[in-house]
Amino acid sequence: MTWSAVPRLTSLGTTVFAQYSALALSTNSINLGQGFPDTDGPMWIREAASRAIFEGKGNQYPPGPGIVELRNAVAGHQMRWYGLQYDSSDEVLVTAGATEALTAALISLVDTDDEIIALEPFYDSYRAAITIARGRIVPVTLPGPDYALNIDALARAVTSRTKILLINTPHNPTGAVLSREETEAIASIAIEQDLIVISDEVYEHMAFDRAHIPLASLPGMRDRTLTISSAGKLFSLTGWKIGWVTGPANLVSAVRTVKQFLTFVSGGPFQYAVADALNEGDGWLTELHETLKQARNQFCDGLRAIGVEVH
Ligand code: PMP
Repeated sequence: MTWSAVPRLTSLGTTVFAQYSALALSTNSINLGQGFPDTDGPMWIREAASRAIFEGKGNQYPPGPGIVELRNAVAGHQMRWYGLQYDSSDEVLVTAGATEALTAALISLVDTDDEIIALEPFYDSYRAAITIARGRIVPVTLPGPDYALNIDALARAVTSRTKILLINTPHNPTGAVLSREETEAIASIAIEQDLIVISDEVYEHMAFDRAHIPLASLPGMRDRTLTISSAGKLFSLTGWKIGWVTGPANLVSAVRTVKQFLTFVSGGPFQYAVADALNEGDGWLTELHETLKQARNQFCDGLRAIGVEVH
């Protein structure tokens, strides 16, 4: 064994979240960096999970790619909301949250020293997962105050070593939502340069001022895009860690190969409940959108009232 891997992985800063939370607690502050909802998701979805446990559904290892009910429900959601068609037999994979989907995708697709372009500031697992995959992260900064994508900067960041554009829209932590023009520019760069796009869309139902546009829905993008989402964000159930990835069979199969040896499977009974949630929860998603939009407006109005500039 070589010990050179030890500093590589211990320098990832994985304890930062815990430290910030402890600091917030000790100073009576709120840690805005940790994105979990302050109310649990709907009772009917939680009851569906309890029922699954009592009825003996999912208490043993579910199938590797996820239960068929959930894979069908994910495909149904993509079709209903975005007109995107996926074959649930090999184009949908259930994962242990979006985090595992991202990490498995990066490990499966990245070769040593490949470059992955990501929109900075980025969600904390991106750098770590790319480091684990032995790739190199190439940041393209979303400049304030409006955090719009600088399309020229993105085009300039592409080199002969670039393999993946790692996109996140709506974006954590800036809250920016990519416009139609920005998504089209990303698509044309991906197509011209023959790049894979990994699109983290966990906040897909939280775009408040303009519509969320899935990268995979743009012409020529479906077959080069892995789209990732999560029941944690859609249904305010972050502790359940049920996520999924949709994409063309060849890319999804690569992710599945790695996922198989990370967790193999997870959250059997929760998978049944999330399938129900996706099939029957569109009304709740719309309601959540409105509630959060009102909360956002109230929060921003309050900040402005005390003289804080809000972007
Ligand atoms: N991507 C982004 C942008 C996130 O904010 C989060 C969670 N905070 C995740 C992925 C991870 O989601 P999950 O809990 O489903 O692993």
